Amino acid sequence: MPETSPTLLKRSHPLASADSQRQVLDQIVTPSFAEAVAGAGYRPLKARSIEVLQINLGKRCNQTCRHCHVDAGPDRPEVMSEEVLEACLNFLAARDIPTVDITGGAPELHPGFRVLVERARALGRQVIDRCNLTITRLPNYAYLPEFLARHHVEVVASLPAYGIKQTDLQRGGGVFSESILALQHFNELGYGVEGTGLVLNLVTNPVGAFLPGNQVSLEREWKRELKRRHGIVFNKLYTITNMPISRFLEFLETSQNLESYMERLIQAFNPQAVAGLMCRSTLSVGWDGKLYDCDFNQMLDMALPQHMLDIQLGELEERVIQTGAHCFGCTAGAGSSCGGVTTG
Ligand code: SF4
Ligand code: SF4
Repeated sequence: MPETSPTLLKRSHPLASADSQRQVLDQIVTPSFAEAVAGAGYRPLKARSIEVLQINLGKRCNQTCRHCHVDAGPDRPEVMSEEVLEACLNFLAARDIPTVDITGGAPELHPGFRVLVERARALGRQVIDRCNLTITRLPNYAYLPEFLARHHVEVVASLPAYGIKQTDLQRGGGVFSESILALQHFNELGYGVEGTGLVLNLVTNPVGAFLPGNQVSLEREWKRELKRRHGIVFNKLYTITNMPISRFLEFLETSQNLESYMERLIQAFNPQAVAGLMCRSTLSVGWDGKLYDCDFNQMLDMALPQHMLDIQLGELEERVIQTGAHCFGCTAGAGSSCGGVTTG
């Protein structure tokens, strides 16, 4: 079992509130993100389609990673209701959205997780499970790897580093060894193995206030090291920039790195990263049915006017995207999204 610590909410930390997080970000003098993307030819920044319906099933998690932008943990009560889940499935059935990306918290803790996977697959959609790996090691969830393989669900698994020290530092004591066992089991089922069609992608984000390294060379290094040390294979490595939100924002504040980190993101603004921003092709659904441009806007409570329970068809595809200073995290360097870099 991973070691956990109390969430911001449990500690009654001011940053548990999205309002406080936005205020902290507003106090830092930054150029306007909207103006920065306008300089890249996007006036205003608009969605171009909905290719991914990202469903956040809630904030419950069996881990309490230090960088978590959700402030997820075992003490979080928020979970999606059956009514909202049903509305998501109805929306999906009525629309030609190819991919369903299931996230949380640990989404597998939700009692409707299996039904969501089965019904989305029955609709012929690609399904992604954002899995923290250790969840599959808990007795009640040991069924997950076989279940996911049976339904050909793509597994996107987070692991900060291929070494124990950095991983346990960021995700909690005991996480690394359990994650390795989970990955080995996924491999035994064919995940990450060429020719099986079972996709296992890993996600890494920096352990500290700096930008990720080059995705291509890191993938090469990770493949070599995970194979050599643990016999593990996987498909792709995604590098993700830490967003100045929630528990990573707390870390930036307490380590007095906030201003320099924001400066770093702004200095690294890459106009070429704008075209592939995930908000341009994603619709994000919160546990309570509110809709957002992305999971980060969700955590900052920057909701769209529409709600999943009374959504009108056709009105979201070309919406203007709501942006803020945090968005510089998505355009720094090679760009960053739930699918890794946004350039190249
Ligand atoms: S980063 Fe993921 S695994 Fe870690 S606490 Fe947050 S939701 Fe859970
Ligand atoms: S934070 Fe969200 S809205 Fe802002 S650029 Fe990134 S994906 Fe788009």
